[in-house]
Amino acid sequence: MRILILGGTTEASALAARLSGRSEFSPVLSLAGRTSDPRPLPIPTRIGGFGGIEGLAHFLKNERIEAVIDATHPFAAIMSHNAAGACARAAVPLLGLRRAPWKQQDGDHWIEAPSMDAAASVLGDMPRRVFLTIGRLELRFFASAPQHTYLVRTIEPIGDVLSVPNVLTLRDRAPFDEAAERTLMERECIDMLVTKNSGGDATYPKIAAARALGLPVIIVSRPGKPRDVEEVTTAEAALDWLEKHHCRTP
Ligand code: NAP
Repeated sequence: MRILILGGTTEASALAARLSGRSEFSPVLSLAGRTSDPRPLPIPTRIGGFGGIEGLAHFLKNERIEAVIDATHPFAAIMSHNAAGACARAAVPLLGLRRAPWKQQDGDHWIEAPSMDAAASVLGDMPRRVFLTIGRLELRFFASAPQHTYLVRTIEPIGDVLSVPNVLTLRDRAPFDEAAERTLMERECIDMLVTKNSGGDATYPKIAAARALGLPVIIVSRPGKPRDVEEVTTAEAALDWLEKHHCRTP
């Protein structure tokens, strides 16, 4: 069974690991190409966009793909919509592998923002020391709030996307550790954390550390994903789904 996994997440890598060595499946994992040095994966990988819905529909046909797992990040909304459109057009079954969002717990002080733009304005006029953990591509929204000092953590260098006077940069990638996150926030005198509601364990320690330190967290809500797509939250459940589809394939 030829499978396309749309990846860039821990869940996609976990599914790839489960499929590797299973002779009844022939998976390929697709990455957008945002990270210059992606972690090696145990199944064939392709890198780069498909060219919208039409390009992906062509790929599905040319590669004789029989099932697609959309395991993209919860904030990768365009790719998920393209996957739904292309799979409908090519009549290929599609499953969304989407990790559950984080939920506020006792002791958390969350301020929910509907967008990155809104998150930047929630910071307010008073200068603060802000830990920005939102990736690289949307940092530009914080250029409208240059009064703050930003600690920015990304996988790739940020270049000149955040042109404000006070920016400290840190390059690192998940998984993170709660004690280390707490030490970092204390050392840098952080008084606010900004994050997407990404969900999952790998980046949750910053939320736990902010709770322990009594810091407010500006948490950006997830964008909408296609509604009529069947969803699971774990790689194990995605594998079950594939096994059921495989049994139905003559
Ligand atoms: P996006 O806005 O939903 O997609 C923009 C375009 O990038 C798509 O139209 C597609 O180009 C291409 N693309 C996205 N994911 C792809 C994939 N897995 N394989 C091939 N092409 C892909 O995506 P994004 O938010 O920029 O995220 C890009 C990638 O980074 C995703 O794979 C996602 O899982 C990963 N990621 C994103 C975030 C985040 O916060 N957004 C965080 C961690 C990881 P074409 O239209 O040309 O096909």
